[in-house]
This record gives sequence, structure tokens and C-alpha cells, in this order.
Amino acid sequence: MIKLHFPEGQNYDCVMCGAGCESLWTIPVEPQVVETIEAHPLGIRVINENGAAFSKTEDGGFAIFYKDPEKPRCGFLRQDKLCSIHAELGVDEKPLTCQQFPFHLTDTPDGVYVGVSYMCTAVRQNSGRPLQAHEDWLRERMAKGIRITTIEADRVPVGQERYTTWEDYVAFEEEFNRRRAEQGLELTAQQALVLAAQATNQERVQLALAWDGLEMEEMPLGGQVASMLDGTLFALVKLFLDDTSAERILPLDEAFQKGEDLDLPEFNWKGTWFALLRFQDKAFGDELEDELDRWADVQMHRKSLLIYRPLLDNLWMLALIPRLVRCYTAFYTYRAGRQRAGLEDYYQALRLSEMYLGSNGLLPSRLAPRFNAFLLQAV
Ligand code: SF4
Repeated sequence: MIKLHFPEGQNYDCVMCGAGCESLWTIPVEPQVVETIEAHPLGIRVINENGAAFSKTEDGGFAIFYKDPEKPRCGFLRQDKLCSIHAELGVDEKPLTCQQFPFHLTDTPDGVYVGVSYMCTAVRQNSGRPLQAHEDWLRERMAKGIRITTIEADRVPVGQERYTTWEDYVAFEEEFNRRRAEQGLELTAQQALVLAAQATNQERVQLALAWDGLEMEEMPLGGQVASMLDGTLFALVKLFLDDTSAERILPLDEAFQKGEDLDLPEFNWKGTWFALLRFQDKAFGDELEDELDRWADVQMHRKSLLIYRPLLDNLWMLALIPRLVRCYTAFYTYRAGRQRAGLEDYYQALRLSEMYLGSNGLLPSRLAPRFNAFLLQAV
């Protein structure tokens, strides 16, 4: 029997919030599911209400149709936030992706690593039973053919057309986790980025060995990576504003460069960037740092560094997400007139960052090549 590895400390049972069904994702739908549902009164009802139940994908398949992509909502989501396919036809008739959510499986030479998506409310809140309790259910879904990402033993993607072995990656990850426990995630991710970039420049990629020359707590590239992450964080703050016109953005850029007050009425914030970072450091307490650690543990466990994109691209996101989460947690806290951030502020910020920068996020594929062009030139 295939070995399934579950992460420690992560719980999940659906709280039926429907939030995953109100996000703009391409959710593939099997042709037989389309056939069954379109022939059922439920499908006919949804087509009458929305104009379509499913859309055609570029590769000739089907996906869930969103009537208004600006306000995405699955046409099968009921007002009470329950799935009407689940309620009227049964769980087995749902598209496999919907049955599988929020689980993510990564098949490696050491067995299958089970992860979960932090786009799910219950996962963010750590609500429910330990993930191990879902093992039988997951095995049933695996037999039905849910999606599993495969990592090949001798083709672990590190950079553009650059690969290493699974054994090398495991040793690299072990040292990554050891350092993360001592010096924190962000510095470790920055160090790993530089090492991975150096390794890809060599004839034979050897990730694990690269750690040897790097002292604990050493800031890589004299802080250039950290500066780039700071600049990117500010760029994201601007990108997420409702108004991104030049009249709105140029004064913010000017204020940022001169160290003057940033006017962000969306968060009732008027103060310098450094004042915001100071506020953030005070507002984001130990409990939230522990929550962020749980998020990082699950990312490492599910092999997020190797999924969808090569290691180098994913490391940028691992370094950037905690910054974005702390910053937006501070914004939401400040807007609510509080000095200490609460879990709700944090969950809201984490959802935002997962949506844009997570494994399935909208931005990594756009940001990572730009980052890597800088990095590969700098090392
Ligand atoms: S987002 Fe998670 S908790 Fe909410 S309905 Fe979907 S699976 Fe359930």
C-alpha cells in the first residue's frame, strides 16, 4: 500500500463556508460529470439562471462557469453556501477537483505527502480533526483518480531546465528546516534562494552541499534580496488598491522614495512606510507567529517548493508571503482601530496572500521570472 505522510498539527473538517466556491479558479470538470448534470433538472436550472453551467477550456475540456468573473461564484453554490450538486446528486457526482479540495497530494520517491490549501477557511482556522482522520476517504478518492502531483527521483526542478535528484533535495530541505527553526523562515528562504541560484550556475546542481559555506544568520548578497522583497511588498500594496491609476500611484511612489507619509485611506493609514513596519512589529504577536509557522510547516511538508514551478520560483513566494501577511494583518488591525492584531486580521491577510502568491496564485508566474533574472545575474 502507498505510504501517505500527513503533516503534524494541521486539522481540517469543512465548516461549509462556501468560500472556495467564490474564488476565481479554473476548476476542471470531467466530461461525464458535465453530461450527468446537464441532463439533470439542477443543471437545466443553473443554465437558465446563468446562461451556462460549464465553460470550455483551451485544451477542449470543461470548467466551472462564472457568470461574473469580477464577483466569482460557482453557479451550483446555494444561498446557504452549500453545494447543490452535493445536496441533489450526491458527493460522488461532484467534479473530482471539488471532491478533493482542500487536499493536495504530492507523490515522491518516499511516498505521497498530503497537504491542504490555505485558501480553505477550515484549514486556515485549523478547525476539525487531524488530517490523518481523512486517510480512508483520501484513499477512496485516490482510487477514483484525484489529481496527484508527481516528483520524479532524478528530475527535481530547481530552475529553468535545471534539475537535481530527490535525495539532494531532501538533504537540502532538512538543512532548510533546521535553519528555519533557528533563524526564521524569511532569512532562511533568502539564503536558500541565493544558494539555489548559485547551484543552477554550476555544471551539476548540488543543492545540499551549497549550505556548507553559509554561516547561520548571514544576510545573503549583503541584503540585496531583502531590499528587493521590500520593494515588491510595496508594489503589491499598490497593486491591490481599488484605484491603481497614475494619479493615485505616483504620489505614493514619491512619498515612499522620500520617506514621507503614505496616504492610504483604505486602511485609515497616514504615516511613513517605516512607521507602518514599526506598527506591524508591535501588532503581530507570538500567537500569530506560531500560526505562520504552521502555514510554513504545511508548505514544506506538501513540497510546495517543487509544485507547479521550480524551486527557485517557489522560494521567492515563501520569502514574500510572510511579509505580505504581516503587512496586511497590520493594515486590517489599524483600520479596526486596534493595536494588537487578532486571528481574524491574520486569516484575512493570509487568504489574500494565498489567493495571489500561493501555489495556485495569480502572481507567481508573473513575478518569479523577474526576480530570477536579477538573482542569477547577482550571484
Ligand atoms: S473553503 Fe473549506 S471550509 Fe469552506 S466550504 Fe470549502 S472546504 Fe469547506
